[in-house]
Amino acid sequence: MPLPGWIRRRRISLTVSLTAVSLLVLAKAAEPPRNWLPEAPKQPKPVVASCPAIANPDPLMGPRTRLPGSWRGLAPVRRDLPIVVMAGHADSQNMDGSGTPGYAVDVLKQNPMDARMRDELYWNFKVQQKVVELGQQQGLRISGYTPPALTIRNHRDPATNWAQAKVRSARGEYILEIHFDAYSPYGFGSGLIPAINRQLNVVDESLANAFGRFPRTFRGGLGGPRRGIGILEIGMLQGELETRLRDPAQRDATVTCLASRVVNALARGVGR
Ligand SMILES: [Zn+2]
Repeated sequence: MPLPGWIRRRRISLTVSLTAVSLLVLAKAAEPPRNWLPEAPKQPKPVVASCPAIANPDPLMGPRTRLPGSWRGLAPVRRDLPIVVMAGHADSQNMDGSGTPGYAVDVLKQNPMDARMRDELYWNFKVQQKVVELGQQQGLRISGYTPPALTIRNHRDPATNWAQAKVRSARGEYILEIHFDAYSPYGFGSGLIPAINRQLNVVDESLANAFGRFPRTFRGGLGGPRRGIGILEIGMLQGELETRLRDPAQRDATVTCLASRVVNALARGVGR
């Protein structure tokens, strides 16, 4: 009795696939051995492999401030100096002083990274978190402070960056606020705008050596520095810096690179 058609078809397809498998096996066996050494155990990739030392001007962060300062930070600090990292403009969205929208949003009319905030704050938050994470890994006594709301209109509210900085700076903590500067021609470039309520110390000096140095009384002395905040302008939010941050394929590596540069400068400052 002839086999029904569907069984015959199954037989044929089974033979075809078996032939394909044996051809594959033969091809594999014919390949020359690629490497006769035992395979090295897989190492996790170092996260900052693609982060070179800072140059001047820097290919990633752009130029240093076009208005340089001449102060020196000489006061010594304890190796276990408590460091508090804040994100600039974290409590002043939808009001004056909300930070730069960046070139991509303001000029190229691209969508903001997060509709609730200016792009500067979005990146300030990313770098802040990474600085705290990497700093703790390095053994620094470092923590972050983030206000409970994106808009706090009364700057005397005890939860604002300014109010927290005033209290913490008075008890000897080092306050660093992460910022990105406006795009050219409005921005100045990267650098530290140091605190003006205390003597400048070796951590200020280390950050200024790495990123650049604004005048101590930039714009007549800003609200943050009067309350003990060192404002770190990473760079103008434009060009290569903004492009790499916005590119999902390069974002994490770029944030990690920027944060590791901050952490290295802090670690040198406290003598580690
Ligand atoms: Zn800012």
